[in-house]
Amino acid sequence: MNASNVKGSCLCGVVAYEVMPPFLRMLHCHCSRCRKGTGTGHSTNLISDPAQFRWVSGEDGIKRYDLPSAKSFGKWFCGRCGSPVPRLTRNGKLMVIPAGSLDTEPPIRPTDHIFWASRAPWVCLSGGIPTHDEYPESW
Ligand SMILES: [Zn+2]
Ligand SMILES: [Zn+2]
Repeated sequence: MNASNVKGSCLCGVVAYEVMPPFLRMLHCHCSRCRKGTGTGHSTNLISDPAQFRWVSGEDGIKRYDLPSAKSFGKWFCGRCGSPVPRLTRNGKLMVIPAGSLDTEPPIRPTDHIFWASRAPWVCLSGGIPTHDEYPESW
């Protein structure tokens, strides 16, 4: 991996990773699960091909929670500080990387708001990027 890789880590620094661009998407998700899972108004995640991702440290300190009632929703977090860290989707096809865990600037900006119909009444404005009631129809 090289200097253009995007780097990230958890709050305490135990878990660290790097990703090789490009990213597939950068999503604001307004579903109620993301609200619970982050404690904030929406999640913001970068989506990448798992082949472009690697753990630098702390992988064995990661705790995993798969929501039983969901097909794919889950949360991976640092066992020491509780910060959300990147997770591999259950089907193994995508890495979902919490944008707040980045330490360097990614070469992408948010592409879509998803689950916009589920947004909290106090959420920030859309900023003019596409909004989708759930997932975009083209997915
Ligand atoms: Zn940590
Ligand atoms: Zn969500």
